[in-house]
Amino acid sequence: MTRPAPVPVDLEDAIERLKRERDAVVLAHYYQEDEIQDIADHVGDSLALARVAARIERPVIAFCGVHFMAETAKILSPASAVVVPDLEAGCSLADGCPADAFERFVAQQRRTHPELVVISYVNCSAAVKALSDVICTSSNAVDIVRHFADKPVLFAPDQHLARWVGREAGRSDLIVWPGSCIVHEQFNARALAELRVRHPDAEVLSHPECDEPVLAQTDFIGSTKKIIDRAIASPAKTLIIGTEDGVFHQIRKTVPEKTLIQIPGMDESCSCNRCPYMRLNTMEKLYLCLRDLAPQVTVPEDIRIRALRPLERMLELSKPA
Ligand code: SF4
Repeated sequence: MTRPAPVPVDLEDAIERLKRERDAVVLAHYYQEDEIQDIADHVGDSLALARVAARIERPVIAFCGVHFMAETAKILSPASAVVVPDLEAGCSLADGCPADAFERFVAQQRRTHPELVVISYVNCSAAVKALSDVICTSSNAVDIVRHFADKPVLFAPDQHLARWVGREAGRSDLIVWPGSCIVHEQFNARALAELRVRHPDAEVLSHPECDEPVLAQTDFIGSTKKIIDRAIASPAKTLIIGTEDGVFHQIRKTVPEKTLIQIPGMDESCSCNRCPYMRLNTMEKLYLCLRDLAPQVTVPEDIRIRALRPLERMLELSKPA
């Protein structure tokens, strides 16, 4: 049996070489480690990366994020081989909304609400997307719910995002799937209150996947990209941030002089507030997936076609970046 070639010492150089050889594009989410963000061709949140995947025509997409994001890229760019550094990089929201249970839930709600519109947050499996009428991200969720103001709406799978979106869109009647993100749900409201006392001039920025007691103490609530933009534009010199600390890298590139503090987790440390799924990806695994063109993410064609329409609808309904 031939042994696989060893992993090179200069991974950055080797990845750049493989990108050229494979004519590959590397997409990375903001929650990836700094080195992966730096070597990626595009860094963004779910909406930005979906837009890139929709217009890209390259034989290989290396997707550094989690599984549902790579599936989204495959749905939007079926001719590309979509490789991922680690196939185990899942998501508590996607895993907490199995397609068979979701299908039963939707059918049950449709019996009493025949005009029901199913809006699913992009953090769900391809099979759940295929059961949805339109997809949204945290960037465009409020606008998309507002678009269906005269219809009953089922919002899945994040209950905290749903509560915030419902409030912003003036909808107290959203039917909600009770999922949550294990990272954002862990931010500690009591520790945030203490931080606010210690840093009275700081601005607090949080992601809408956070629980209500954290959002109630937040000055600016927005998607990952909006948090980065606000952190850069804010007049505050100290920022207390309630999202994955992968965003710190992009903020520090532009405003290195600002002090960034992550809201502590329930155990008062910051370590639990890194996404354990996102952080499975490493530079070494990125090199290996480009070298071996494996593991690849695939989506059965019937599901891909049914999931494509709600994704395209999201892109049609979203304001240009
Ligand atoms: S941060 Fe939360 S929502 Fe995002 S991938 Fe990780 S578990 Fe899923």
